[in-house]
Formats: sequence, C-alpha cells, structure tokens
Amino acid sequence: MNSVSKAVRRVELADDHFHDHCGVFGVFGHTEAAKLAYLGLYALQHRGQEAAGICSSDGVELRAAKGMGLVQDIFDPKRLATLPGDAAIGHTRYSTAGDITLTNAQPILIDCGKGKLALAHNGNLTNAADWRRKLEHRGSIFQTTSDTEVIVHLIARSAGRNLSSSIAEALNQVEGAYSLILLTRDELYAIRDPRGFRPLCLGRLADTYMVASETCAFDLLDAQYIRDIEPGEMLRISRAGLESIRFAPPKPHQYCIFEHVYFARPDSLVFGRSVHHSRETLGKLLAREHPVPADVVVPVPDSGVPAAIGYSLESGIPFRMGLIRNHYIGRTFIQPVQAIRDFGVKLKLNPVRGLLEGKRVILVDDSIVRGTTSRKIVRLVREAGAREVHVRISSPPTISPCYYGIDTPTHQELIASAESAVRPRMPDPASTIPREVGEPAGAAPSSHTIEEIRRFLEADSLGYLSLENLRDSVQDQDNRFCTSCFTGIYPTPPVQLEVQSNSRHIADAASQESQSTVTRET
Ligand code: SF4
Repeated sequence: MNSVSKAVRRVELADDHFHDHCGVFGVFGHTEAAKLAYLGLYALQHRGQEAAGICSSDGVELRAAKGMGLVQDIFDPKRLATLPGDAAIGHTRYSTAGDITLTNAQPILIDCGKGKLALAHNGNLTNAADWRRKLEHRGSIFQTTSDTEVIVHLIARSAGRNLSSSIAEALNQVEGAYSLILLTRDELYAIRDPRGFRPLCLGRLADTYMVASETCAFDLLDAQYIRDIEPGEMLRISRAGLESIRFAPPKPHQYCIFEHVYFARPDSLVFGRSVHHSRETLGKLLAREHPVPADVVVPVPDSGVPAAIGYSLESGIPFRMGLIRNHYIGRTFIQPVQAIRDFGVKLKLNPVRGLLEGKRVILVDDSIVRGTTSRKIVRLVREAGAREVHVRISSPPTISPCYYGIDTPTHQELIASAESAVRPRMPDPASTIPREVGEPAGAAPSSHTIEEIRRFLEADSLGYLSLENLRDSVQDQDNRFCTSCFTGIYPTPPVQLEVQSNSRHIADAASQESQSTVTRET
C-alpha cells in the first residue's frame, strides 16, 4: 500500500432511488444516422450511465460499437465514422453491481438464418430464466447473461415465413416488459409489449423517422413527436414507409407510473403526458393531503423540484432551493481515512444555511427506497439550522421490488416493506394500530409503519402521497398504469418472479390505499 492509498479510502456513493435499466433510440433515413443516434442517446443518458452502444446499417452491412461509461466518453468523431449508413439504433444501459461488463452492453448484433440483426431492449422479461434453460438444452449458446439474448435466440430459431412473423412468434413466447428497437440491413422495427410497461415513441424530422424512449431525444434533434408505439404494436419502418402490425392479443395496459414520479426527464412527454405537469400535480395533491404549517418548501434536487413547486403553489408557502446539488460526481469517491460523517450525501448536496436557519422546512422528495440517504438529508437540513423538518414524499411507500426493467432492492432492503430489515421496529403500542405480524408482504404500510419510518428519518413529520392521488395526478381513471412497487400486486404470472410467496396476482385483490401523515409525538 503506498502513502496515498494509506491516506484515503474509496467510498461507494449509493443513490437511494429506483433506477431505469435502459434508454433506446433509433433513426431511419438519414445520411448521418449514427451521429443522430449518438445525440439521441446523449439526451437519454439519465436512463443509463454505465454502458452504451450504437449499431448502424448502410444497406449491406451492420456494424456496432459499444463501450463502458457515458455516451460522450465512448464515442468521438473517429468512432462514429466507423458506423456508416442511413439507419442506426442505440442503447444506453444502467447495470447493477457485479453486472458491469461490456458483454451485456447493447445493441446485441447477431448473424443468423434470418440475416444480420441488431437488438436494443428496455425492460425485463419475467420468464427469461426458463427460456434460457430450455434454449441451452436445445443447443443455443449464449454470449451474455442478459434476458434480451433470449429474444434473439427465439427469433433465430423461429420457423416464421418472414422476419416480422418470426419476431411475433418469439415475442408471444416471452412475458414481461420490452420496448424494443430492432435493425436489419434495410428495416427498423419499433416494438412495445402488450401491456406497454416501458415507453417508446415515434418522431419525425422531414423524411427521417426516429424512435426513442422519451421525447426529450426528439427535442434535441428538432424532430417532431408523432405518437407512442402502441402496446402490442410492431412498427416496421422501411423505404416503403411505415407498417403497423399487431403481433399479440391485447392485454390490460400497465404503463409504469414511476416514469412520471422519477425516471423520465421532466421535459419529456411519456405515455402522451407531460412529465413536469404530472410532477407538479403530485406536489399539489401532496400539499392538500398532508398540509403542515411551515416557512419554506425545499426540494431534494433534482428529482424533487417539480413536486416541491407544486406543493408551494398549492400551499402558498415559499419555494426555496435550500439544497444545492453537485452534478459532477460519479459512483465512487475518495475520502480521508478519518471518516467524515455523512460524507457521501455531503458530496452530493450542500445546504444553503441562509435559507434554512431558524425555519420550519417542508422537505419534498419523490420517493424513499432504503431511507438511509433521506435520513442524512434530514440531518443536513437540521444541522444547517432548520427549526423543524417535515418530510413529504410525492409517491406512496415503495413496498415491493420491480420486475419490469427497473433496478430495485429486495423486500428486506426497502424501508417500507413489511419484511424490511432496515427499519427499527417499535413495540406495537395499541391494539387499534394494525399489527404487521401475519400481514402479507404486499400489504400497504400501516400508520404504525409510517411512524417507524418517520422516527428512522429523524423527521418532525412524514407524509406520503396516497395511491389514489398518485393515480389522479396521471389521470388514471381506468387503471392503465402499473403500481406494483406500491402494492406488491403484479400483473404478470408470478411463476418466474422472485416474488415472496405471499405477494399476490393483480386479479386477487382490489387496489389498496395508503397513507396518513404521522406527526412527531411530543
Ligand atoms: S413495479 Fe413500479 S417501477 Fe416497476 S413498472 Fe411497475 S410502477 Fe414501474
């Protein structure tokens, strides 16, 4: 160990949020297709920061380039010049710890009986493990550990009479979430699973068609948003134009509601709705549901900002940027051996003492996952002189993992889960408070649980938005949105989900309500 390494230690800067796995982008009919794909991925960087790739077609050959890191670090003009042609697809990826390898970076490029094809996937298949076993038994050799490769093998083995019927046959055998872009020598396919978990939209710039996870990618390129790819739709783009193919029987829609709470960029339209508008509405409804006398409304930046604006507008309490985010840090950082208390969160956020000192603060964030980061932020605000800290969350408690393309911790790590190993339990104080013992894993947290979380956060009060208000904020009158991470109720057959035995199928239970404000006992 040299003298420098003796003096420092490296710390993981955990980000206590659910994370999207991927963003996808495709372009057809532009002489600088790879450059446009690069810019599209740049706009979608928030959906994955650990690997990215582009595959292009010049009508004869498909060529791919991939790398680890941010889009702007992977691609330079020289590398983009190796990707000629007027069609290209791109992918940016977030991977969980232990899975940070270039092998799993996309697009996946294969040469099979159907010709050369490349695939970029946003989402997660829920029966991929079973298919992988079956396919390996039949002689398929997998190059990656990703579920996307199952789709590739199923397409390659299909006896369909043409590519679109082979894709349809493959996709009708898999379950779960997939927004896919597939490139051949002369066609581009944009496909969304029948439930429509993850977004995928179509844009146009003169004669060039584009597809992207979010419309913010079109804005950067001056392209116009046309419409969403429909759930269960396969859109084939070729020199002949667009052809829309229904490849699967319709299923109840399950748009990911968390896209509107946290994942998507606020300047995007997702599922045809403005994300910023949804988030401001979340804040307004939160203010109505959990009012509290206070001097300032302070967001946890950046994701808490629109909801805090909404809370401020509704309550009339002034909005203040009382926390400043440092945008220039990665996932690890070096700190002195002599540990600094709450070092990770201090690197990311710094309180503005002049805005917080002596104030009753309403601290607005989008979600609480493990709770450890939220507790540090509460401490930070209090240490900056706040007289009271009231935490308000613009979504219900997250009680269950996501299996549809989002990186989430286990039930044990989720502070609001009935199985939480994070939350210190209080003795059951009164028979009127529902007991957690014997409750199913998916049950909505009781007010007793919310009080335990409030104590853990060291907040003066804690209020989560109810599921009903969350649905209202996206005008979900007909249950078209997935809310599984808030209910523990999953819309897909749970056969291959690593769900707990007492999580329930969506048909088994009516929607559940959560939360109340819990105030500190005096
Ligand atoms: S479980 Fe949660 S994060 Fe996953 S798709 Fe459903 S709403 Fe989105």
